[in-house]
Amino acid sequence: MNKVWVLGHGQLGAMLAHAAMPLDVDIEPVDIESGVVPDLQPDDIVTAERELWPDTPVTEALAAHPNFVNRDVFGRLADRFTQKQLMDGLSLSTSPWCLVDDALSAEEVYQRFGGRALMKRRTGGYDGKGQFWLKEAESTQIPDDWRNEAIVEQGINFDEEVSLVGVRGEGGEVFFYPLALTLQVDGVLTASIAPLDRIKHLQSQAEAMLGKLMEELNYVGVMAMECFRVGDKLMINELAPRVHNTAHWTQAGASVSQFESHVRAITGLPLVQPRVKNQSVMINLLGTDYDKRWWSIPGSEPYWYGKEVRPGRKVGHINFTRDHVGHLEEPLEALRQYLPERYGQILDWALANLD
Ligand code: ATP
Ligand code: MG
Ligand code: MG
Repeated sequence: MNKVWVLGHGQLGAMLAHAAMPLDVDIEPVDIESGVVPDLQPDDIVTAERELWPDTPVTEALAAHPNFVNRDVFGRLADRFTQKQLMDGLSLSTSPWCLVDDALSAEEVYQRFGGRALMKRRTGGYDGKGQFWLKEAESTQIPDDWRNEAIVEQGINFDEEVSLVGVRGEGGEVFFYPLALTLQVDGVLTASIAPLDRIKHLQSQAEAMLGKLMEELNYVGVMAMECFRVGDKLMINELAPRVHNTAHWTQAGASVSQFESHVRAITGLPLVQPRVKNQSVMINLLGTDYDKRWWSIPGSEPYWYGKEVRPGRKVGHINFTRDHVGHLEEPLEALRQYLPERYGQILDWALANLD
């Protein structure tokens, strides 16, 4: 069978490869900084685990391959300016925004969006990096080096954040995972719960939004949509044209994980509606040292990414799925003992939101 090359060799590429093994699909994540250009064959397939990349001999070779799935989508979504234009063009609800150009003044921002607005770098931001709050009460001004490099959006007083992940096949068929409730702390995803009874009524609204986007882009594979919930209304925060941290729970909680769905979609294997086993909780390991006791908790499914531990860096995650044996409360309480104290509020959030 032809080979699938992944642009990027982080944890997402590794988990795609992990999921592809039982499908007998050969996946190879590629280090874009490596001097060795992969030996691409005409029938091979190329996908990416990231939405933006520098030009290197490796990325140029991958990007030039005719079977690079969704190639034209990456640039469009990687730039928040064109991503926001896409949402506006489809009349999808998103936080009101504008480009930070040479003429824009902070006063104009406050007049248009109210007293709190968030500047976001057009490209390259992740985990809340590349963001800058403008606050009228503090008379914050726009620093010069943000001009033409950023958008600014209204600060949204959302009730909570949710995420929808869907998959679309070459023939246009689409399937969705249930909405996940997500907890972002300082701009970084720390935990998610899915499915969740009290947000079920938002599922069809979310599916209509992401379905419209995937169709407009003629997208193939897994795409994620992060939303703010404001009452019963969803507003799109951002989109990611790839497998996504907010659906890592599907490794434990669904018959077909998001990684497997993506591999199936891009290789033309049959797509199905993933069956959800039960409620799952995912806890991100951020800047946390490896602790083998995580594996001692019954029901715990840790994934360690093998990266160097640095403060705040995503180095792994742990999934838990409710089953007939026990409750989610027990393993989450057990985990509390094996994580630094700062995880207390994250575990409390998970425990407080379980069905
Ligand atoms: P990711 O790692 O998910 O790619 P990112 O760096 O691209 O994150 P965003 O998702 O745009 O950044 O923002 C990070 C978090 O900041 C959001 O999850 C949300 O908690 C908060 N945030 C973003 N935009 C707004 C807004 N307009 N109003 C209020 N809070 C916001
Ligand atoms: Mg992002
Ligand atoms: Mg985000």
